[in-house]
Amino acid sequence: MMNHCPQCGQKRIAEELTCPKCHCFYSQLDQLLAEQQAEIDKHSLAGHLKAIWQANNKQQALQQELINLKKNTPNRTKLTFIVIILFIFALMVTVI
Ligand SMILES: [Zn+2]
Repeated sequence: MMNHCPQCGQKRIAEELTCPKCHCFYSQLDQLLAEQQAEIDKHSLAGHLKAIWQANNKQQALQQELINLKKNTPNRTKLTFIVIILFIFALMVTVI
């Protein structure tokens, strides 16, 4: 593990994968890890919920996610749908 940025020599922040100064990855391994994590996030339920949560139009984003869900296997769709409803319900309860 590198202790300094290979680009600008800035001291590494242990938990960060990229340099805070020049935003380059500290190593190819760090880049690989970040890309894998992004890929996992994209396909995970948490990643989908995050996408809905960060969208400007949450209702539209949710509808789009539900359309995408229909392409999945039926059992998985049902389970994911229930989890999303529970998540939204939990959010509403928390906000109120
Ligand atoms: Zn740097």
